[in-house]
Amino acid sequence: MLLQVPTEKIPIQEILIHKNVKLFIKREDLVHPQISGNKYWKLFYNINHYVTQNPEKPYIITFGGAFSNHISAVSAVGKLAGIPTLGMIRGEELQNKWRDNPTLVFAKRNGMNLKFITREQYRNKEKLSEFLQEEFPDALIVPEGGTNEDAVQGVKMMLNNETKDFDYLCTAVGTGGTIAGISKFCEDNQKVIGFKVVDDSSLENKIFELTLKRNFDLIDSSFGGYGKIKDENIRFINDFKEKYGIPLEPIYTGKMMQKVFELIDEGEFPENSKILCFHTGGLQGIEGANLLLEKQNRNLII
Ligand SMILES: *Cc1c(COP(=O)(O)O)cnc(C)c1O
Repeated sequence: MLLQVPTEKIPIQEILIHKNVKLFIKREDLVHPQISGNKYWKLFYNINHYVTQNPEKPYIITFGGAFSNHISAVSAVGKLAGIPTLGMIRGEELQNKWRDNPTLVFAKRNGMNLKFITREQYRNKEKLSEFLQEEFPDALIVPEGGTNEDAVQGVKMMLNNETKDFDYLCTAVGTGGTIAGISKFCEDNQKVIGFKVVDDSSLENKIFELTLKRNFDLIDSSFGGYGKIKDENIRFINDFKEKYGIPLEPIYTGKMMQKVFELIDEGEFPENSKILCFHTGGLQGIEGANLLLEKQNRNLII
């Protein structure tokens, strides 16, 4: 085994009691300093199974965008395990600009090989995966965002006796692996809400195929599109940190929490509901986001 179950319990913090609902946040962002939040759990079995197989020429290959939390996490896993990694990065224009991107600099420092591919090539990454697997037969190829059956199994470890106590379990949704794991392994009386930060109509089916349960709802929380950051998002994140002392990032957790607050304000949760939001990590993305905001002369995330 390489990735371990942390010996210390992941804390569940109370945020507020408001409009007769109780809101809590589970700090999966604290699970590991470099392999953050849900990405830790999604990689857990993928990596441990692979290491156990003892491949002759170990190599981990995966896919992601320029600010990807998954790329960041896989590069750190590779360093930890002493396994070379290759990141197939969307956007060939980054070839000469990756040094301006803190996520890619971090990945490179961890020894990750970066290959920049066009958006067209990136869209065809299934084909590309097959090709790479032929070229590197011993390699572990992890899909974008790390979502697969092993990932869903790993997400089970975000749930425990304490999380059984909640009526609603909330998570941000990108590729859907995290919500699928929560849906699959939560209690029958619990309702799962996914806050979609991408506009992708195939997500519901994709999630269903992984969980085979219908205990989840998806709510659009994209605030203008994946990766787009509005001034109201920045304001919310900064207020939230000031009030509750908990940092959020602008791509996933900030948008989820903002939408949760909206739903509470609109009275969408029944009285006395106990709501648990998973802080899925990704705080490494703040630095890159701030560099972009700075260029646009906008307020920064504190
Ligand atoms: C990747 C990510 C998600 C989305 O997880 P999926 O399993 O892809 O839906 C949510 N929050 C953070 C912080 C992430 O990095």
